[in-house]
Parts: sequence; structure tokens; C-alpha cells
Amino acid sequence: MSNIAKEVAKRRTFAIISHPDAGKTTLTEKLLLFAGAIQIAGSVKSRKSDRHASSDWMDIEKQRGISVASSVMQMEYRDCVINLLDTPGHQDFSEDTYRVLTAVDAALMVIDAANGVEPQTIRLLQVCRARNTPIITFINKLDREVQEPLDLLSEIEDHLGMDAIPFSWPVGMAKRFGGVFNLPKDQMHVFDNKNKDHRAENIEILPGLHNPDTEARFGAEYAKAQEEIELIQAATPDFDLHAFLAGKQTPVFFGSALNNFGVQEVLDALVDMAPPPGPREAVQREVKPTESKFTGMVFKVQANMDPAHRDRVAFVRVSSGHFTRGMRLKVARTNKEIRPNNVVSFLSQRRDLVEEAFAGDIIGIPNHGVLQLGDVLTEGETLQFTGLPFFAPELFQSVEVKDPLRTKQLRTGLTQLGEEGAIQVFKPHLTGGSLLLGAVGQLQFEVVADRLKNEYGVDARMSPSRYNLARWVTSKNPAALKKFIDSNAANIAYDVVDAVAFLASSPAQLRVAQELHPDIEFHTMREHS
Ligand code: GDP
Repeated sequence: MSNIAKEVAKRRTFAIISHPDAGKTTLTEKLLLFAGAIQIAGSVKSRKSDRHASSDWMDIEKQRGISVASSVMQMEYRDCVINLLDTPGHQDFSEDTYRVLTAVDAALMVIDAANGVEPQTIRLLQVCRARNTPIITFINKLDREVQEPLDLLSEIEDHLGMDAIPFSWPVGMAKRFGGVFNLPKDQMHVFDNKNKDHRAENIEILPGLHNPDTEARFGAEYAKAQEEIELIQAATPDFDLHAFLAGKQTPVFFGSALNNFGVQEVLDALVDMAPPPGPREAVQREVKPTESKFTGMVFKVQANMDPAHRDRVAFVRVSSGHFTRGMRLKVARTNKEIRPNNVVSFLSQRRDLVEEAFAGDIIGIPNHGVLQLGDVLTEGETLQFTGLPFFAPELFQSVEVKDPLRTKQLRTGLTQLGEEGAIQVFKPHLTGGSLLLGAVGQLQFEVVADRLKNEYGVDARMSPSRYNLARWVTSKNPAALKKFIDSNAANIAYDVVDAVAFLASSPAQLRVAQELHPDIEFHTMREHS
């Protein structure tokens, strides 16, 4: 096996997804702790607050107590290099989250056992489903009064449309939480609320489902768990790795992230079950992770992580080859050459300089606008990966600058924020119209107004727009598209890459347009191309 193939086989790249407050941050922290990447619990939280302090516009994030930006962490566990991509849980930032999901090979879904499958999780799951991303499920907070495990399982199955295969089963809950029965190992793992570690080596283990000692010790709670286990063993299919990899089955683990309980099983599942990086589809050809030449795609751009330098960091998922610091790379869209020297990796909470990277790894390239969302980096080949989604905005505002002398700054700011994917910017077809901003969540407007002010010195005036929905329009027949644009001129606008969009003020208006123009296709999502 080549060195590249060996490195690729070791990689596991996954996103952690959940509804806010389900315990994503806590579990992330515990995964890092168990992998030995951090020593002190609480570091992930403090990393969050460091970031707050580092940038003014993050004040919004601080005020609302949400995580606006996604981040990347790398850890080593057993023989594997695990890349963990955090996703913002707040629904207003779902676009960013969706793009993060295009950069991973698997997802870890955290569910609050008291709340079950919540709305934000459902939206994220739809994206995973569309891409057949394998999902590992962690049901958290068993140390609290929660829903019945059987109900949780069927809720997951209903929402995911895939079989949920339990790998562990809880015995009791809240104060009566006795631990979990590990099904593949056929043994009970005892929960001890005084044990703050719960690593494999210091967990009390009781062998066998029908162990009289266990039965005597946990009484009615255990009898109930036994009954449920027998029920699910009869009713659920066996775990099938291929079905998991195809996104048709999800292994389910129960635990309590706060108490480090059940965390190690999840980490082991990532290593044992989650797939190494696979091939990636480009317009021109399929790219294999083990190819010798480097390729990678920018799936996220984050501006001004360091306000002193006003830099932007492009997050690149390596798709193939061997990245080494200082190598020459071509930006496929512009043919420009870059030689990234100060590339950052994301080892635990530190931002380190990266010396080399392989498929599945995420590298951060600081730049001043050379790299945009969707850009592909190669050693010379012209290549465009498919699949980076842009979603049709559901909210619109028109934007004007209070001081007309700053119009140029407004355009610059909006272009950059648009390229970063913070907001979608539409230019109306008819001259004289003001620029339109499109978002999937209200908070995006606030972030953009705040950043325009702080980063570009522009006081922007945003006002409600008459539009409520947008569809990208295409047609196999160019003449039909032209006719459509001409007859709907007041509702046509162009996005950052000049793709044509139809803006409507109501679903009825959209329906009418669709009926009148059968040659036109209306899209709710645009893939970067
Ligand atoms: P996130 O918004 O998904 O990142 O959630 P956090 O990790 O910030 O957790 C939300 C809240 O749930 C915090 O107060 C955590 O301390 C708490 N929490 C997380 N895991 C558990 C758990 O296993 N048991 C209990 N009782 N609380 C938990």
C-alpha cells in the first residue's frame, strides 16, 4: 500500500449535528478528552469564549449564546486521525451547516433523550439523507428524566426513514439510571454518578443479560430493560455495515455526555464503523482519495478570525493526494497560483501550522479574497467538484447605504460577505433597483449589518422587500429563458455567480409563473458549478 493509501485509510472525518442544547459541545469536549487531545474538561467552552473575545461582530453570538461559526478539530485515537467538524446549531445558520456536511464522510447525531428528535435535527438529517451520509446516533442525558427508549427509537426511525439499531440499551433513567447494557459485548456497563471518568478500564462490568447478580442489584429497572432488549432483538434487523455506509441503518448508543458515560463507545464506533474518505465527484471526472496529486475544495470561508489582519480563512477539505506546506497550488476558477505557507490545521483547540495533510483532513488557508466558497485547489488540473449547496432564500431585504459616498465600500463588503456565504446578494435585472439580500434566517441580516459596519465602515440601511421566495431558473431552451426573463423583468435578479433567479412575493405568484412557462425549471437549491 502506498503511503498516501495508508494515511487515507486512517482518516475519519465527521460532523457532529444536533438541535441546540442537546449536548453537542459537551460530547465534543468529551470525545477530545477521551482521545487525549485535551486534558481539562471545559476547554471547548473556553475556546468558544476566546473566539468571542477575538472579534467584535461575535458580540451578536455572545448576546444570543449561540455558536455562529463552525469549527474543526483534529484528534488521534487508536490508529486513526479523526477530524471533527462542529456545526452551528442555530437554524439561521443552517446554510453554513449544510455546506459543512458536504465536507464529511459521516455524521454523529446527538439527541436529547428528553426532547427526542427536534426540528433543527430533522433539517440536518434531510441533508445527510440526500447525500446518503452514514449516521451514528448518540442519545444523551440518560441521567435525567427522559422519554422511553423504545419511543425514542421509533421516533428516530420515523424521522430518519432508516432502521435504528441499538448497540446499547439503558437500564433506568434519572436517579435510577443504572447504566447501559452493551449488546454486542453482552454485558452491563454500570453507571456510577461519583465516577467522573467512565473510561473502559474503570467501568464496572457485569457479564450476560441473564445475570442473577445484575437482576438482584437493579431490580425492576433491569427486568424492564431485559424485556425491551428481547423485544428489540426480535424486532430489529441485525446491524449490517453496508446498510450503515449506504445511510440505511444507524447504530444507536445511549449515555450521558456530561458524565462521560457512553462516550468511548461512540469514539470506537467512529473508528470501527465510519468510513475513511471516499471518491469525490467532479464535473470532469471522479477523484480518488489515494491519487498522488493534491486536490481539495473550499467548503467554508470565515472572515476576520484575526481582526488585526482582516484576513479570511478558507477551510479546504482535502480530496486527494498529499498536501505539504509551501507547495504550489492552482485555484481552478481563476487559474491563479498560490503557495500557502502559513496554512493552519486544527489540532484540538490550538491553531497549529500544518506540515502535511491527506484526504479527509481540513486545512485552513488564510487569504485576502483569492479563495471563495466552492473553489477547487489542484496541482494544475482544471477541476470543479459538485455538490456544494446554496439554498433558495426565504427572507429578503433591500439594502442601501446611508452615505452615498460609501456605495463602493458597500458593494465590496457585500461581495465579500456573499462569497463567504454569510448572505446571498442579488442584483436586480432592471437598472436602478437597490441590491437585495437573501437569507434563510433573520439573524443573517443582523450579522451582515453588524459586519458591514465594523469591518467595512458602512452604515447600511436595510428595508423590507416585497419578495418572499426565490427560485433559480434554468431552461434547456435558451430562447425560452430569455423570453421568461423579459416578460418577468421586475422579478428577475442575478446572484454572486450571475445565476438567474426568479423572485416572487407569494407562492401563488410562483405557481402562476410555473404554469405559464412549462419550459422553465425552477430550483430551490443551486449546486456550486
Ligand atoms: P449544545 O448546544 O448542543 O452544544 O449543548 P451543550 O453541550 O452546551 O449542552 C447543553 C446543556 O445540557 C448544558 O447545560 C450541559 O451541561 C447539559 N448537558 C449536556 N450533556 C448532558 C448530560 O449528559 N446530562 C445532563 N444532565 N445534562 C447535560
